[in-house]
Amino acid sequence: MIDLHTHSTFSDGTDTPRELINFALSAGITTLALTDHDSIAGWEEAKQSVRGNLSLVLGAEISCLTSDGISVHMLGLLFDGANAKMAQMLSETRDSRIPRMKKMIELLNNEGIDITMEDVLNVVADGATVGRPHLADALVARGFIASRNEAFDGLLNNDSKFYVSHLAPTPEVAIAQIKEAGGVSVIAHPFASFRGATLELDAFEPLVKAGLNGIEVNHRDQTETERLQLLDIAKGMSLVITGSSDYHGAGKLNSLGENSTDPRQWELLEAMADQRRVVKQ
Ligand code: AMP
Ligand code: ZN
Ligand code: FE
Ligand code: FE
Repeated sequence: MIDLHTHSTFSDGTDTPRELINFALSAGITTLALTDHDSIAGWEEAKQSVRGNLSLVLGAEISCLTSDGISVHMLGLLFDGANAKMAQMLSETRDSRIPRMKKMIELLNNEGIDITMEDVLNVVADGATVGRPHLADALVARGFIASRNEAFDGLLNNDSKFYVSHLAPTPEVAIAQIKEAGGVSVIAHPFASFRGATLELDAFEPLVKAGLNGIEVNHRDQTETERLQLLDIAKGMSLVITGSSDYHGAGKLNSLGENSTDPRQWELLEAMADQRRVVKQ
């Protein structure tokens, strides 16, 4: 079973890369991608933890913003981790997540919700990308809400008055950068409409021109109708079709392998990278 989108404690997942790999092995996953938000900090531990017949795909989920302000997540897989421009793009986004978090905290404080940056940093693992799920955890720890889910249903939703965006490359820039670093790009959950505004149909062509390789069609945040629309787009544009869990450990209900990628689609995708970079024991 092939699962091309998962998170560890190096972003907002709750399993370390080692734990993630162990869970993947027991869940019957044969090919697993580690795709922490805007970070490759978990790659080293993941590489060292690979065992059995598991194939490890190193990647990242890159936060992007279109010129219209629509949030897009781009999975970059199999790129060269030593590429300096890629590292810079990722670190700029990570850095800007700190003032962004402070602004969200300020907005919450203004409404009488007593939470501090220290509370948030207390629930962030060392070296992890800071995100809204951490703010949710801090709000849970302080007793304001019961769960991450409750936070995303209300206070921390994309449409909430407390929501603040952070610096991020456009999807085209991210795709070009992934390609330049030898990797492949798959747009993550593009029609997950309940999260907020999504791309229009005509937005895919410029992405394909920039070098987009695939579309994540099967993802729990997309309805059957949304998946069928994406399937049409993927087929019409000769893009690879993927499915994945977007596993976050205990941070979300998503379970490893709940959606997966067809081996033939993975074969096509892997062949689009500039070299073989899958890690085996
Ligand atoms: P950010 O990148 O800081 O804007 O936070 C977005 C992250 O929140 C994404 O990685 C999602 O996986 C996560 N997220 C979205 N909805 C939920 C939810 N209902 N429960 C937990 N995490 C969520
Ligand atoms: Zn996440
Ligand atoms: Fe995402
Ligand atoms: Fe994700």
